Order: sequence, then C-alpha cells, then structure tokens
Amino acid sequence: MFTDAHLGPYAAQSANSRGRRYAEEASSSRSEYQRDRDRIIHCTAFRRLEYKTQVFVNHEGDLFRNRLTHSLEVAQIGRSIARNLRLNEDLVEAISLAHDLGHTPFGHAGQDALNTCMKAYGGFEHNLQSLRVVDQLEERYGAFDGLNLTFETREGILKHCSINNARLLGDVGQRFIDKKRPTLEAQVTNLADAIAYNNHDIDDGLRSGLLQEAQLLEVDIYARHRAVVDATYPGISGRRAIAETIRRMINTLIVDLIQTSGQKIKECAPTSVDDVRHMERMIAFSDAMFQEAQALKQFLFENLYRHYQVNRMTFKARRTITELFDAMIAEPNLLPPDYQLAQGESDDQRMPLQVRKIADYIAGMTDRYAMREHRRLYMVDEI
Ligand code: MG
Repeated sequence: MFTDAHLGPYAAQSANSRGRRYAEEASSSRSEYQRDRDRIIHCTAFRRLEYKTQVFVNHEGDLFRNRLTHSLEVAQIGRSIARNLRLNEDLVEAISLAHDLGHTPFGHAGQDALNTCMKAYGGFEHNLQSLRVVDQLEERYGAFDGLNLTFETREGILKHCSINNARLLGDVGQRFIDKKRPTLEAQVTNLADAIAYNNHDIDDGLRSGLLQEAQLLEVDIYARHRAVVDATYPGISGRRAIAETIRRMINTLIVDLIQTSGQKIKECAPTSVDDVRHMERMIAFSDAMFQEAQALKQFLFENLYRHYQVNRMTFKARRTITELFDAMIAEPNLLPPDYQLAQGESDDQRMPLQVRKIADYIAGMTDRYAMREHRRLYMVDEI
C-alpha cells in the first residue's frame, strides 16, 4: 500500500483525498495523484500542447517554448519547491501538467478573441476549459466522460473563477464562494507557473531578437545576476551568458519561495489540508523578491508582449479565431459531425449547446490546425 509518511501534516495525502466523481478501486502500485498525472500524460489534449504557443507561434521557430515544454518546466519548478516544503510532489506534477490543457491556439490572443466571441453565451475562460477537458471532453474510459481525476487535482486546475461560474461548478467552485484557499500544492503550482513563464519568455524574447540584452540590464533581477555571471566567468558572452543568468534567476526565485513559504508554514502551523483552506496564503515570495518579480513581469509586458511584431501576430490570431467562430455559428453544418448537435436536442437549449461545442472545437485546435481550418473555410482552392 502506498504511504505519504514523508509529507508534512499540511500536505495533500493521497489517502485523505476527497476522491473522484466516479468511485474507482485504489491502485496497488500508484498513489491517487500519480494516477491523475499518468491519466493526464496519456490524454489527447496533452499531446496537443506541443503545437500550442504562449507568445510565439509554433511555426516561428523550433527552439521556442510551446505549452508542452512550458508545462514540463512548471512541473520541474513545482516539484523542487514541493519536495523542500514536504508537500505532495505528485499532486503538484499532476496540476502542472494539466494547468494549460484548456488553452486555445495562439496563446492569450486566442483566448481573448474566443472570449469576445462567446460574450453573449457565458464567455470563454481557459481555466474553466482545462477543467472541462479533464471532466468532460476527453473520451478514454468506458464508464465515464473525462479523466475522472481527484478533487484536489481538479481544484488546482481551477486557478481562478468568477462567482457566477463557481456556482455552476459544484464542489470545485465552492472555495471561490466561501473565499477559501486551495491546497498548498495548488498554491505552489500557481507560482511555479509564473517563475517558468517570466524566465522562459526572457530567453525566447532574446533568442527571437525582439528583446535586446541591453534593455534587460535595466531590470534589477537580470542585471544583478548577469553581474555575478560576468564576475564568475570573465569574458563570457552570447547565449551561454544568458543561460547562466536565467538559471541563476530561476534558482533565486525558487530558493526565496521555499524560504519564505517555509517560514509562513512554520508560523501558521497548519496540521491538515483543512487548516490550509481556512488560513492565509502561505506560499509566497518575500516582499523584496515579489517586487523584483513584478518589475520583470512589467518589463515583459511593455517590451515583449506589446512588441509590434507580437502585435501583428496577435492581430492575425484574433482574426483567425473570430472568423472561424463567425462561420461556424452562422452555419453549424460546416462543423465536423462530432461537433454538430444531435437531432432531438430541445429547441431552447439548442443554440447555447451548439455554441459551446463550437468553442470546444476551436479551443481544442493547435495553432497550425486553426490556420489550416481557416484556409479550408475561406479559401476556395483549399480543401
Ligand atoms: Mg501556464
């Protein structure tokens, strides 16, 4: 039988899980959260992450991050933090690998465009969609839709959520209504996500030439670590110097998070996950590190995410998603049969159900599939 004896009393223990929506027999070889992780790795939406992007579009280069490599980096950072804090690494890994499953093609531009298209039908939110993928959309089991993950993994995937949506979600939505915390593992994954994307966006930004290193020397956290690299390896330059700087930044953020959170856990002294839910947020950076991380984020926002070349891609992404949606809503018979409503759905429900299926179809597309589908719909010589 599986034991979580090495974990802190405040960690999520597999044996104390609130369980799965459909009861299943325990595994003889794996904990509940290991099973969740394995189900995620084997699902279809996970494989699609390879061809979905955050900032750069898939065809722009082979070395940029995609959502798959991003998710792996989040899992790596999250596990390092979890092990040091005696938290459940398997749960952190499961949440990390699943956290972006519901993302549309073309990163935030795609999500914003689909949300705008869906305004009259309840909107579109990628966190909710990630949950929808694991709860409903994956078709892999004879006994149920979705992956039937544990409550704790599902709760961790739902990072934020409006009160209106929370009311529709039942158990995993309740904490937003009650204003309670999720597990420490979910809190860790949240910040591991931020550490991963801030650092890899700098790396990708420099690699693409959209950012120049001279600009980054204005950002304290980068300049400070770059100076250490120069002092340690006089004459170092180019990609090697950037990589040395970024790995030091990641390490500094992780170490600060472990120390600050470890101290907060000591002060709050939670003895169960239930305590964690009622107490203040315990996973956090020190104030000084938080300021530095914010400055970095702000720098990326102003210099990379709003770079005119990124804006051009954002413009094309918005147009592609919007035109796909417009065509399909006007003529649902353009959709592949799986996404058309079955005969016999009641009339008043027909439109909202069809619209949601269109959103599922578009959200599930990879970048290149969306571009191809757009051509197939609008270019007369493309079939
Ligand atoms: Mg992410």
